[in-house]
Amino acid sequence: MFILKAEAEFDGAHFLKGYDGKCKNIHGHRWRVVAEVASEKLQSEGPFEGMVVDFGDIKRDLKMVVDRYDHVLIYQKNTLKPLTIEALKEEGFKMEEVDFRPTAEAFSYHFFQLLSKNFYQVKRVTVYETPTNCAVYEV
Ligand SMILES: [Zn+2]
Repeated sequence: MFILKAEAEFDGAHFLKGYDGKCKNIHGHRWRVVAEVASEKLQSEGPFEGMVVDFGDIKRDLKMVVDRYDHVLIYQKNTLKPLTIEALKEEGFKMEEVDFRPTAEAFSYHFFQLLSKNFYQVKRVTVYETPTNCAVYEV
């Protein structure tokens, strides 16, 4: 089995509503996302002979899915009052509403799902919330 790995990073703020600990407050992370693409064989001809896929394709697709969350406040649907959202938007802050609790685990599944829409076989997505903590979703 051949495995390709590509990485991307984004700086995003989040909070965990209902969590009894420090993460209930708005705080930021440099999220590091590693996508792994698997293949039993290499391409046998053409410009990508000897490759699984072009690294550039994976990097581009990964960047596209993570860029949406770069330098934004990521919040789970129904965890902020409409008035709060309105006020923050009025201040010009970029925000992204998600329909999942924004944990490293949920992000690994989210990015896995988005990347799996591409032509190659995504095997695993790892999301680092800190340099030493990560969550993995794999098939
Ligand atoms: Zn956090």
